[in-house]
Amino acid sequence: MKDFVPQPPEAGCRNAPVLKERGQREVFCGLTGIIWLHRKMQDAFFLVVGSRTCAHLLQSAAGVMIFAEPRFGTAILEEKDLAGLACANEELDREVDRLLARRPDIRQLFLVGSCPSEVIKLDLHRAAERLTERHAPHVRVLNYTGSGIETTFTEGEDACLAAMVPTLPDTAERQLLLVGALPDVVEDQAMALLRDMGVSPVRCLPAHRAAETPGVGANTLVALTQPFLNETAACLERRGARILSAPFPFGEEGTTAWLWTIAQEFGVAPDSFARVTDAPRARARKAIAAAAETLRDKSIFFFPDSQLEIPLARFLTRECGMKAVEVGAPFINKQIVGPDLDLLAEGPVISEGQDVDRQLDRCRAARPDLTVCGLGLANPLEAEGMATKWAIELVFTPVHLYEQAGDLAGLFARPLRRRALLSGLEG
Ligand code: SF4
Repeated sequence: MKDFVPQPPEAGCRNAPVLKERGQREVFCGLTGIIWLHRKMQDAFFLVVGSRTCAHLLQSAAGVMIFAEPRFGTAILEEKDLAGLACANEELDREVDRLLARRPDIRQLFLVGSCPSEVIKLDLHRAAERLTERHAPHVRVLNYTGSGIETTFTEGEDACLAAMVPTLPDTAERQLLLVGALPDVVEDQAMALLRDMGVSPVRCLPAHRAAETPGVGANTLVALTQPFLNETAACLERRGARILSAPFPFGEEGTTAWLWTIAQEFGVAPDSFARVTDAPRARARKAIAAAAETLRDKSIFFFPDSQLEIPLARFLTRECGMKAVEVGAPFINKQIVGPDLDLLAEGPVISEGQDVDRQLDRCRAARPDLTVCGLGLANPLEAEGMATKWAIELVFTPVHLYEQAGDLAGLFARPLRRRALLSGLEG
């Protein structure tokens, strides 16, 4: 049984000093989350109330969508709106009426705030209430902000799910709620593992369709699947749910610890747990070992982007033999990432927030073998001869649970192999 609980290091990072930075930051805004959320929620539409810049961001991030009937769009605020010359509310209502008349398949509509809508103080919460009254019961209209003033890119999903929580029905049923928009293939794997060990009922937030929306209440146990769902977790707690405290399901060790935390709550016997997990654990360990050959003893530096940094640093140092130099995260909520901090051996600088120039100085001084950062920093660092990994790939690629553990390690091994090949060619 102790095999299911990771062995902590002599000293972990939970109580390590945190370097708090409050300067300029280089991160995508929360609109980016629409790209994976709209795939997950199949009868939802995301209407960004923003500018042409917002529309371009979405279109370029979701280039593949041009062949499909999209489930997101942008209501463009023109200059006259920004100058307050037109009633933006009336225009918004007209746009929504047109959209819903054309698309009867839409059951949930999200009005997504942006920098421009915040600057002109367009009250999207009032707009959502007004439009819900007008289009109920067929469509529920909710709002959240994805603005770059307020959010980093994974906070968009957090804001979206947090907006849904107050509308979830009450339930007294004892249930497990998986929270976070996992790719379907990963969600199916999680459901199969939990079903095979007898954990039931299990529901998901977000659900695929409005009709499958889960309830929440005092007997709801929440297993977060993503470490960036701070506000959602707080909203669920306010509805009486209990958030399970576990490392995140990245890598073999993290996945086992996450599942075992759930299993204990639902009275799963250790031998049943072993029967379900032994084979996928062995597969995960084997797949990780292949990539770890490239990663072992290499140093890694995380800029703060996705909020996945702490669980990933735990995985890469413990299961792949890497050495973390700095682990930066936009926010550190110890209630949520505490179990991962416990398992991350002390040593790396733990930083929260960003002051990009100072952090670049630290990164250049350390010359890590691999730097995890946003697109804007990757190119200049590559030009300086440093290998980089784009943080955004980590949220676009299936990386959770056993079957993806090898791919997760491979995402970090690839840039190192490429750089080794290039330097071989140059030599
Ligand atoms: Fe840019 Fe702000 Fe629009 Fe994001 S919300 S694309 S940061 S203008």
